[in-house]
Amino acid sequence: MVNRFRFSYPGYSETFTGFFDPQINSNGFKPNPNTTVFEWLNKDSAYRGRVAAHATWYAFRRIINTERSGVPVYDGWDKGAAPFADDKSTLLQELYRTTTQLWPDVAFDALMQQLVVVQMNTAMPKVLFIGYGETDEYAHSGRYDLYLRSAQQVDRYLSQLWSRFQADPRTRNKVTLLISTDHGRGWGVEWTDHGEEVNGAEYIWSAAIGPDIGALGVRRNSPTQQAQMAATIAAALGKDWRSAEPQAAVALPIFKN
Ligand SMILES: [Zn+2]
Repeated sequence: MVNRFRFSYPGYSETFTGFFDPQINSNGFKPNPNTTVFEWLNKDSAYRGRVAAHATWYAFRRIINTERSGVPVYDGWDKGAAPFADDKSTLLQELYRTTTQLWPDVAFDALMQQLVVVQMNTAMPKVLFIGYGETDEYAHSGRYDLYLRSAQQVDRYLSQLWSRFQADPRTRNKVTLLISTDHGRGWGVEWTDHGEEVNGAEYIWSAAIGPDIGALGVRRNSPTQQAQMAATIAAALGKDWRSAEPQAAVALPIFKN
């Protein structure tokens, strides 16, 4: 990552805008003054109204600046459930209202995953952000057992989504999945934490799969930055984010041709 803070809002903002803005220095920061790649796409006639975000952490309404961008952001407990009227949505809305909130700012990944599935069945977006949040909470609590369990569960959620895409003729071999994290975690005993003073938390990983992504295997020793993700998201749609945001880093070199 280019940002030095090594925590969530700066990390996601770097991921979505392609550059480090030093004024974004807290997780409580106001709605993002910078335009994200999602906002830009939502103002493009080919994508307008077809961009959405689901996340367990309640800060994404600010990070994506839902008010200005017009991107519907379903996040946290209070705004997590989309106002769809089908039976499954009604049940999930009730669970969001009545589940005991282990963390006030972060809902459970399992519930959000079901909301994502409903979103796909009800109004399939062309661009969808999904923010899983549990692993960070369990790590901060020192619960390595639940941290691993939660991480493994995210693998299964991604597998579930990918299988759905590949089983549906409308989406088969048409979806690109980009996976990354907002920050790393400390080395050794500092694994529970991250932040400016925590060594190791500046290292993140990312993965990609899709019809235009080269099968490059595991890439090591090829320096890349979190800031490259914004242009990569656009490039997966054949678009050039840097034409709109010249400060943004270049797309990751993962595409065929
Ligand atoms: Zn954290």
